[in-house]
Amino acid sequence: MTGKLSRLACLLLILGIIGCEPQKHPVHHDQFFAFGTLIDVSLYDVEQPLAESVCRQIEQDFMAMHASWHAWQPGPLASLNRDLSDLEAGSIESSTLPLLMEAHRLSRLSSGLFNPVMGNLIALWGFHDNALPLGTLPDSAAISEFIAQAPSINDIKIDGTRITSKNPSIAYDLGGIAKGYAIDRAIDRLREAGIHNAIVNAGGDLRAIGQHGERPWRIGIRHPRENGILASIEISGDDSVFTSGDYERYFEVDGKRYHHIIDPRTGYPAMETTSVTVIHDNAVTADAAATALFIAGPDQWWSIAKSMGIRYVMLIDTHGTIHINPAMQSRIHFESAVNANLSLSAPLQ
Ligand code: ADP
Ligand code: MG
Repeated sequence: MTGKLSRLACLLLILGIIGCEPQKHPVHHDQFFAFGTLIDVSLYDVEQPLAESVCRQIEQDFMAMHASWHAWQPGPLASLNRDLSDLEAGSIESSTLPLLMEAHRLSRLSSGLFNPVMGNLIALWGFHDNALPLGTLPDSAAISEFIAQAPSINDIKIDGTRITSKNPSIAYDLGGIAKGYAIDRAIDRLREAGIHNAIVNAGGDLRAIGQHGERPWRIGIRHPRENGILASIEISGDDSVFTSGDYERYFEVDGKRYHHIIDPRTGYPAMETTSVTVIHDNAVTADAAATALFIAGPDQWWSIAKSMGIRYVMLIDTHGTIHINPAMQSRIHFESAVNANLSLSAPLQ
């Protein structure tokens, strides 16, 4: 959380630098808390009353989505999870169905590395519910038992809004995708209101549309191990920039870091990656891909990115090597020289 806030602060600093120039069209900023993080909506050259009313609408949408999708607090998703764990048929509101279908699609494309039905494993690690992590390792027998049950979207049948499964260990946790989906809906709202130059930023993960006046939007990417910015990216048009990092939520035991991005194949946090940044034209795909490529790690990120249709990736491994594809390299501006640490992949297209 603190990491997210400092990342946002860095981002605002960068946007602020751009905004220092004398100009007629200031950027309107609106902020609120949702999904356990600070949401910042930046609008370029929009009249105050319209800016305020559309931001209140977006805030209400975020609150409603958060309440519906919460896997652990009482609500529709928690009650679906209860039915599924009792091997009973459950149902989902039709408004949540598109999110579930997206989660299934992205899980399939990522060969199951993005797995939206391993809520029980996330809970074993204590990374559910915005609660503070356990600070101790979960019981290894419980993890082995979970891995033996191997819950996956292949166990689930969706028929209209009726959902059934034969695997009692299934529990939806949409934490790896919900923010992205909500950001896409916020961009829809802005466009419906006739706003075409904006950023919706959820704790550093964002989608930017249009431009900052005559210039592109400039986005900072946080350094995974130091305070401040590692690199920046310019956006004009429509792009989402999402980063999954091992610094967001973690605890340490015997000097080893255990974080919140869990490898469904082992039941343990993915240990070879420090952060992954993905650019994609919609936020929901960028969100799931950042999580999946983090787990894929230095050896498999390229093939999973290819199957997910991702064209821009930067992965920093635990040795500090920056794995990057040529298209991403040509879009990213590093704050300081990184050539010695750079590993350039084959093109992704
Ligand atoms: P953040 O939300 O911190 O930006 P991510 O988008 O990578 O980070 O999402 C991490 C969250 O996704 C975890 O807190 C957990 O709820 C969930 N998660 C962890 N591992 C996986 C996984 N392999 N597949 C799908 N969701 C996951
Ligand atoms: Mg994600």
